[in-house]
Amino acid sequence: MFKSGFVSIIGAPNVGKSTLLNALLQQKVAITSPKPQTTRYKIKGVLHLPDAQIIFVDTPGIHEASIPYNKYMVQLAIETLQEVDLILLMIEPFPKGLEDGRYIVHTYLRTITQKPAILLINKVDKIAKPQLLPIIDEFNKLYSFKAFIPISALKKAGLDDVLKEILQYLPEGPRYYPEDLITDQTERQIVAEIIREKIINRTRDEIPYSVAVTVEEFKEIPEKDMLYISSIIHVERDSQKGIIIGKKGQKLKSIGQAAREELELIFGKKLYLDLFVRVQPYWRRDPRTWTKLGLK
Ligand code: GDP
Ligand code: MG
Repeated sequence: MFKSGFVSIIGAPNVGKSTLLNALLQQKVAITSPKPQTTRYKIKGVLHLPDAQIIFVDTPGIHEASIPYNKYMVQLAIETLQEVDLILLMIEPFPKGLEDGRYIVHTYLRTITQKPAILLINKVDKIAKPQLLPIIDEFNKLYSFKAFIPISALKKAGLDDVLKEILQYLPEGPRYYPEDLITDQTERQIVAEIIREKIINRTRDEIPYSVAVTVEEFKEIPEKDMLYISSIIHVERDSQKGIIIGKKGQKLKSIGQAAREELELIFGKKLYLDLFVRVQPYWRRDPRTWTKLGLK
């Protein structure tokens, strides 16, 4: 019997979702062009197993929303959660991580009914085992999780348990994607997302949500066997532009360097990355700009 299905990994920023995804996909992030499929799913990664295909779905960031675009994203996330076969909620076993976890259970999981969910407690390499029990106990009371799995995505510990549990909740189904398809994002989307991720990880408060990234140029420089990429970081206000650029350009430099390193690994090539910051006043309030910024 072949099993297949959609699995969403949700959690606060920095809990280790990408690390887990890369570990599960074993770095097999081969890039292919997009395929016409259900556009409802924002597919990040497909894991091909002999008897199963697991499609991991990323959801928009989890935060309180009052601004139109953020509402749209949260709506998208809730819709996505309603359509997947299984939800993996990842938390960190530290005070702030637990607080984020509770918030997500209350605002997300509880709005989704009858959906199996598994709690992944990541970064257990940083805590002592006895600390796990009270956490499991608390979250068990908050929601009827199917399983509680302590893991270390970084050290690749507990990943077999994760796969074993996922397989239990996957329905019988077809091979949705050909075996060489690991992700259905375009190269430009991957570049934009990675740059955005580096910004999110380096900024706070409103900034992560005020940023949109577009890729203007993506080309080979054959004589140097390099890629040239230029990209615009759109923010809503002048003050945000200043924050992204940072003192003496340090912030932008660090964003660019981190993005370049990761993109070089993905594309297997050296690359030159040009980043520009531009103010697109209050784009989150204006649905017409969402299309222009590649957000809809
Ligand atoms: P995401 O925002 O949820 O996708 O988080 P990332 O995957 O980008 O990880 C955020 C940070 O946590 C990175 O510095 C990771 O190296 C680190 N990290 C992820 N998993 C683990 C883990 O199991 N143990 C430890 N100690 N760090 C981890
Ligand atoms: Mg990530």
